[in-house]
Amino acid sequence: MDIHRIGVYTSGGDAPGMNACVRAVVRAAVAHDLEVIGIRRGYAGMIDGAFVEMDGRSVSNIVQQGGTILKSARSERFRTPEGRALAAENLKKVGIDALVGIGGDGTFRGAAVFFEEHGIPIVGCPGTIDNDLFGTDETIGYDTALNTAVENIDKIRDTADAHNRVFLVEVMGRDSGFIALNCAISGGAELVLIPEMFTEMDDIKERILSLMTAQSRSSIVVVAEGEDQGGAHQIELALRADDAFSKIDLRVCILGHTQRGGSPSARDRVLASRLGASAVEALLDGHTSVMVGVVNHDIKMTPLRNVWSRKKNINYELLKLTQLLS
Ligand code: ATP
Repeated sequence: MDIHRIGVYTSGGDAPGMNACVRAVVRAAVAHDLEVIGIRRGYAGMIDGAFVEMDGRSVSNIVQQGGTILKSARSERFRTPEGRALAAENLKKVGIDALVGIGGDGTFRGAAVFFEEHGIPIVGCPGTIDNDLFGTDETIGYDTALNTAVENIDKIRDTADAHNRVFLVEVMGRDSGFIALNCAISGGAELVLIPEMFTEMDDIKERILSLMTAQSRSSIVVVAEGEDQGGAHQIELALRADDAFSKIDLRVCILGHTQRGGSPSARDRVLASRLGASAVEALLDGHTSVMVGVVNHDIKMTPLRNVWSRKKNINYELLKLTQLLS
């Protein structure tokens, strides 16, 4: 199938570096004499016909910007066959032959079913801070989010140390502990709790108590939001209910959406640029329903289905390392 005009969109949770990826898609497409239409607000914009023509200049000066100039959204209507039919009709009306979607696993589930139903070729670029997508060593936004978390932990350490406090620092990661584990090592945390490894409450208590009695200094516990105790606030409640913690100065800090914002790191910009350009080339080479990723430094394509059906594992050696070094 000949491709003349592609559509590009960002969808699901936003991630720093999405703009660098949009820029790469647009510039690579223009270099291959393709026309580009930006679709605003992801699948919601596809259904509403929120289209904007893009050229090389329309993506000037965005490589360093966080967020996404195309905006992102979650769309319930796109989950229905009727919503997707409307989206397909709109794309055909403006002559979009193929799509590049930048987002997480939900975005790719939508993309795969959309291709099956309407036959518009589609290639995905992994854009999510969680780094939980199979088929790429890192996702766009992860490195920036990790660095933001580490910067914050460094700041928390200063104040924690001044008062010998225990801080429960909650970082993003509903289903995966990539950010938590890596920022725990980088920030010298005493303990890390991640969804991939259940830790009994008694073990959490024992660990904190032994650190505080043995060393009488600050402790930082990094908590991934999706770990099994229910997050930092739940752990705080359990600790406060225990008399053994009555003399311990305990604080909670939820880093939250700060991890999504900010200018993307150089590493994320490079990754996003490579993946955006590769997505366009993949479409031109006749690929569809694949995600482009970087594995062992090389560009690799993975069928969209595998991206969500296969699990990307954390590096368990890093977990042991946190224990060894704390
Ligand atoms: P993040 O991992 O950062 O949250 P995401 O891409 O996984 O990003 P989702 O909200 O899960 O974010 O998915 C984005 C959108 O994709 C949804 O709002 C919905 O419109 C569409 N989508 C997700 N799953 C499906 C599905 N099974 N069928 C059709 N569309 C879907």
